[in-house]
Amino acid sequence: MSDTGTDSTKEISEEAHERSDFIREIIKEHNASGRFDGRVHTRFPPEPNGYLHIGHAKSICLNFGIAADFGGKTNLRFDDTNPLKEEREYIEAIKRDVVWLGFDWEDRLYHASEYFDQFYDFAVQLITDGKAYVDDLSAEEIRQYRGTLKAPGKESPHRNRSVEDNLDLFERMRNGEFGDGEKVLRAKIDMASGNINMRDPTIYRIKHAPHPHIGDKWCIYPMYDFAHCLSDSLERITHSICTLEFEDHRPLYDWYLDQLGVFHSQQIEFARLELNYTIMSKRKLLALVKEGSVSGWDDPRMPTIMGLRRRGFTPESIRDFCDRIGVAKRMDSVVDIALLEHCLREDLNKRAPRVMAVLNPVKLVIDNYPEGQVEEFDADNNPEDDSAGTRKIPFTREVYIERDDFMEDPPKKFFRLAPGREVRLKHAYYVTCTDVVQDDAGEIVELHCTYDPESRGGGTPDGRRVKGTLQWVSVPHAVDAEVRLFDRLFNKPDPEEKGEDFRANLNPESLVTMTHCKVEPSLANAEPESRYQFLRHGYFCADMRDTKPGQPVFNRTVSLRDTWAKMQKK
Ligand code: ATP
Ligand code: MG
Repeated sequence: MSDTGTDSTKEISEEAHERSDFIREIIKEHNASGRFDGRVHTRFPPEPNGYLHIGHAKSICLNFGIAADFGGKTNLRFDDTNPLKEEREYIEAIKRDVVWLGFDWEDRLYHASEYFDQFYDFAVQLITDGKAYVDDLSAEEIRQYRGTLKAPGKESPHRNRSVEDNLDLFERMRNGEFGDGEKVLRAKIDMASGNINMRDPTIYRIKHAPHPHIGDKWCIYPMYDFAHCLSDSLERITHSICTLEFEDHRPLYDWYLDQLGVFHSQQIEFARLELNYTIMSKRKLLALVKEGSVSGWDDPRMPTIMGLRRRGFTPESIRDFCDRIGVAKRMDSVVDIALLEHCLREDLNKRAPRVMAVLNPVKLVIDNYPEGQVEEFDADNNPEDDSAGTRKIPFTREVYIERDDFMEDPPKKFFRLAPGREVRLKHAYYVTCTDVVQDDAGEIVELHCTYDPESRGGGTPDGRRVKGTLQWVSVPHAVDAEVRLFDRLFNKPDPEEKGEDFRANLNPESLVTMTHCKVEPSLANAEPESRYQFLRHGYFCADMRDTKPGQPVFNRTVSLRDTWAKMQKK
């Protein structure tokens, strides 16, 4: 079957030759045989019953990526056939996420619910052709009659109603004469089929519920299998790419299109993305939101696009990740979340300015430094990027350093500050610890040291070396900040291992909020969503909701330790 009226000489972009996977191979074959006249038109069809997650990102990258490679188009289509679970909020969130990921559906935004008139006519056509019937069996009876994988199903006593009766009953279903579940419209296929999906599947069910997009026009709603293939057909989608669980539905997808004699899209299945340390079903993510295990769909610990975005992920890093994992026809292994983080680090390393922040501060007083003096040091914004320039950082007699960077009685391998030890204050001077002040409870309240004026900028004329370099923030210039540190949301690679409830494996320490952090003055008015590398602490992103001018709030996006790169070296 081929499409007409389109340009069959479309150039295949360079990209398509570079990137190769089994779906692109199928498309090349179709192009060679002229099946769709060289046309490539895909769609991304989310059900608006939750926020998109990283698994959807894979599908988005695949659908938009393939179309772009072959000079084709991609539609965004809301698969909104179930009026009960769908909400306006989700539709807006999904659109925002797709745009943020960097994709453009141009003027091709569709809703399956806008095709309901056409679906109804298609159903009438099936009835007229003797290929569909109205059944009075209850949902439970239909389930019993369906049979099992081993035993064939049983035909409904209503299967052989006349076409006239079926047309009349179906119209009355539409007119609201029956209650929910009293009747359904079913396809008349084969109750003995080896494929259970072909045992007279339901086409329409009665649901007296208004629809969030089209209101209360309908009280019957089409099933996914019926609506999906026909939406693809109406939009003249050439390649309908979906996840593997729909493989057994393909015969039904094909059956509807063949029986109705309409444009026939090709369904192609691929393995869904699975990531360790997380869950990906919208239903379960919704449970986390509703039960308050996270602060919302955009909680930075969530695998949702909004969660990743708020955490500080870049769209580039997510697209890179989707590229690297590629597409497999079969389920292979679960992808390690360390790979996603590795892609992020590579991207942030290139673009994130380096700054100094002290998360758990203790005051360091430099006794031989002139009181009231302020020096400014030039600090490079990004050693990986010459064009990033430098900025001035103020230095004074009192600075904050990290509490963990001092030990009174350090073990041999501790190269940071300790009584009598000399370290470098990044971009500034060498300092040597001379005294420790403790309160009555033994808590360190202040450290004292002397500095070597000769070591300005970080080296000494005598070439003396120090092993530790600490970040610091000048006390009078320090800006108070809140910093949120995240760990994995689940403490097991497979949160549902051996059928366990994922709730049982939530990591109770997945969020640590630090409220007394001190950051350098350049961060006072950090723009929401701006990203930085806090020296020695990792990459951070100004929280898009909570950060305010003068009162910055940062999320730790990812630490500096790249476990993925380490594993690859082994
Ligand atoms: P979930 O079970 O998480 O709710 P879904 O498949 O029901 O996901 P849809 O809104 O129907 O969600 O999905 C839209 C598209 O995204 C579909 O084509 C679906 O196959 C694809 N998709 C969903 N999850 C994944 C995943 N983990 N990996 C790849 N593609 C996915
Ligand atoms: Mg679904």
